[in-house]
Amino acid sequence: MTGFLVLLAQAVIYFAAMAVIFRFRAAIGIGVFYCVLGAMHFLETYLAAVFFIQLPFGLISPGSTVMFAGKLAFFLLLYIKEDAESMRQPVYGLLIGNILMVALAMVLRVYSDPAILPGYNPDLRFLDQIGFLMIWGTVLLFVDLIALVVIYERLGTLVTNTIPGRIFVSLVIVLSFDQAFFYAGLHLLSGVPLSAFYGGWIAKIGAAGFFSLMLTLYLHFIETTAIHARLHGAVDVFDRLTYRHRYEKLVERVGRDALTGLQDRGRFDTKGPAILQAALRSELSVSLMMIDIDHFKAINDQNGHPQGDKIIREVADTIMGTKREADELFRYGGEEFALFCPETPPGAMALAERIRAAVAATRHPALGRSVTISVGLATFPADAKDLRELLMRADAALYEAKALGRNRVFSATAAGQRSGRG
Ligand code: GH3
Ligand code: MG
Ligand code: MG
Repeated sequence: MTGFLVLLAQAVIYFAAMAVIFRFRAAIGIGVFYCVLGAMHFLETYLAAVFFIQLPFGLISPGSTVMFAGKLAFFLLLYIKEDAESMRQPVYGLLIGNILMVALAMVLRVYSDPAILPGYNPDLRFLDQIGFLMIWGTVLLFVDLIALVVIYERLGTLVTNTIPGRIFVSLVIVLSFDQAFFYAGLHLLSGVPLSAFYGGWIAKIGAAGFFSLMLTLYLHFIETTAIHARLHGAVDVFDRLTYRHRYEKLVERVGRDALTGLQDRGRFDTKGPAILQAALRSELSVSLMMIDIDHFKAINDQNGHPQGDKIIREVADTIMGTKREADELFRYGGEEFALFCPETPPGAMALAERIRAAVAATRHPALGRSVTISVGLATFPADAKDLRELLMRADAALYEAKALGRNRVFSATAAGQRSGRG
């Protein structure tokens, strides 16, 4: 009975500490969690090799039962809350670290002659033993983790769709597999008796129950927002399990223009109406600038398309560097940009003028000179009732700016007032 209570106490402390560190990973960094996992790995293997407790159903090791089962549970949690890539990194780290450890111990054994101190004789044979177990254990862990994710995902469609059920069954299957192979290694190495296999197996199933319960409680009460990646036909490599990561990268790229990194025309079309809506609700003005590089065809013709691309990027950078935080810049077309700014006509005019001046003052190394832009400006709701009309007015203003000689800003509001519009 005390043996059981000791294990339970260990499991509770282990889970609580690891869960807290995991929960705050966004604040303190996931690296903290990984290092704790790595430190526990050493104790876990050490205990698995030498420390057993006699329970009614056999000899069991707290290292294998509590810490190893717990480690698998936390790897599963890593997968559920992060993705397969975050599982891959620590398992590769453990594997490489363990191999390095054995290699370094070997170098010591071959080349050094430790001083004999009373009571301090290094047991290098033990170091070899535990080194072997660590490598064997991590190779198994690698296979375990792939199996864990695949089984966890498959169970969702085949057997049970509840999270506790999926966690428990996948842990039981993987822990049983691992127990068989780890025991085989242990038996070959140190002749550990068969009772340790059965005892360990039963204890691991108990641990699977305990940790599934704890993970379920954690997912239910502590970290409830789950974006869960589904697996389709993945077999055996972490790489193919890493969906969430790629998905986020993809989302990041969608709506961005490849040349300048600015928001693209599609974003303009979806964001534009929302920007006008927000202005309407808060009864504020929002101005739209259409910006077009002057005589750009000539730049292309004289310097080639690639240099032209470079100029477009540099002009985009200049505008980005001059606009304010709240202004939204889009690459509207080839060498045309659209900029929304929360401004009335005079404020927008001043900003447009600053942008024009900044572009005109930027020398492009490829050309040996600067380029200029023309800007057409219109304000909502003063000049237009919707986005379509606002675009038309800004475009017409841009046309005026070009007609008046380029390298200038033209405001639709000013034009409207001149022609008697209010
Ligand atoms: P204007 O002062 O009247 O604006 O004269 P412009 O020569 O700039 O005339 P316009 O704006 O109509 O021409 C834009 C040119 O930009 C046409 C096209 O060859 C070029 N262009 C469009 N997209 C790209 C691009 O992505 N890269 C490069 N290098 N050139 C582009
Ligand atoms: Mg142009
Ligand atoms: Mg153009």
